[in-house]
Amino acid sequence: MKLPKNSIVDTHAHIGDASFDADRGEVLQKASDAGVAAVIAVGENMDDARRNLELAGRHPMIRPAAGLYPTILDWDRAGEMQALIRRERPRLVAIGEVGLDFWVVKEAHDKEIQKEILKGFVQLSRELDLPLNIHSRSAGRHAVALLLANDATRVQMHAFDGKASAALPAVEAGFFFSVPPSVIRSRQKQKLVRHLPLSCLLVETDSPVLGPDPHQRNEPANITVAIKAVAELKSITEDEVLTAVSENTRRLYGTNVLDGKVASK
Ligand SMILES: [Zn+2]
Repeated sequence: MKLPKNSIVDTHAHIGDASFDADRGEVLQKASDAGVAAVIAVGENMDDARRNLELAGRHPMIRPAAGLYPTILDWDRAGEMQALIRRERPRLVAIGEVGLDFWVVKEAHDKEIQKEILKGFVQLSRELDLPLNIHSRSAGRHAVALLLANDATRVQMHAFDGKASAALPAVEAGFFFSVPPSVIRSRQKQKLVRHLPLSCLLVETDSPVLGPDPHQRNEPANITVAIKAVAELKSITEDEVLTAVSENTRRLYGTNVLDGKVASK
């Protein structure tokens, strides 16, 4: 499948990852040729955040985000990240990735720290009017509850691994759910796409992981795989998916996310 030019945003990719250092320019060109207008570059720590900002200066397709990976349970690093996000607010399109990960973090005490750190990012999101790009591994229901309890408004749930029933309160609150290419090999993600309304869906790649083939480096051009899968699962055309997903992306990230002028709605 070939998308119209500049028609879609990869809403979650680790394009700053070292696995792209040798050929990032070519990877982005290939994505552009496939119809991708922009790639939201999420990060996991301070180094990633600085790198995403620096790369965005060199590659016009990159929209930088900054966040602290949820397995990092460190107040000082959370504070540092908050300060960076405030400082770089005009250049950032999102806070992410941040969230909850109960797959790795299992102790009750550690989970509480993780939740408190996430609450801080939710408050910052509201204060700065920046969308949250949320990781919620084995913690879908908990992440949704925390976000709702803390009045998060602009939210993308990335690669949600929970049940549709856990997602529905978030859908009602206007949160968005991004579908990665790995949907073609995940029964759980297929079920989720079938059950959630088209009006809450985005697409992402999570490059370099969550690709169609788990043994191959994933890249933003594979966004077409996610779009095709959504069309098949919902029994609609790829054009219909494209139109809806682009509209949803603009609703969350603002109309300028496609052309590079950032964030404000
Ligand atoms: Zn990710």
